[in-house]
Amino acid sequence: MKALEQAILAKGKVLSEDVLKVDSFLNHQIDPALMQAMGQEFADLYKDAGITRILTLEASGIAPAVMAGLILGVPVVFGRKRKSVTLQDNLYTADVYSFTKKVTNTISVSKDFLDKEDTLLIIDDFLANGEAAKGLLDVANQAGAKVAGIGIVIEKGFQPGGKALREQGYRVDSLAIVSSLENGTVTFA
Ligand code: 5GP
Repeated sequence: MKALEQAILAKGKVLSEDVLKVDSFLNHQIDPALMQAMGQEFADLYKDAGITRILTLEASGIAPAVMAGLILGVPVVFGRKRKSVTLQDNLYTADVYSFTKKVTNTISVSKDFLDKEDTLLIIDDFLANGEAAKGLLDVANQAGAKVAGIGIVIEKGFQPGGKALREQGYRVDSLAIVSSLENGTVTFA
């Protein structure tokens, strides 16, 4: 997606050979117009897939997921990373090792908001080793839901997550695929 690639080139910061910082439009400050355009892309890709719900992960998956959900006319459910007094039982849970925070979070989704009648579009901000996607797929499987595909804003194609998911037979659609962050430079596939 051209506008996303332009935003990454103009505003992204290469922190190391495997970490890209996009805090100014996706991970901290949010660019609503860009989110809307991304939501439209996901919606166009999945308009005939019979999606009933979008499943994402807090916090950074929520903005693009909500825009896609608005256009597809379906609710958006996000996996929560911390338990709260209002979310104690009746949960699907999965452990997710965080690439950026280097800790394992147990993500939870209420059984009220996911079931075997669902056809899901999973959305997340980044795809690196595929741990977040694996956790969301685990939750979807526990619910007996069908997964139509996985929509990713930025896939780092030089890390193994995307290849592994596609080899497992999942449809993965990434709006931008970064092939290298070497020498402080973003290169797209
Ligand atoms: P994975 O679970 O696929 O290894 O990593 C994806 C998750 O880690 C995403 O949910 C995202 O929050 C975070 N992440 C992975 N790589 C990057 C990166 O280069 N930049 C940022 N900002 N987040 C990343």
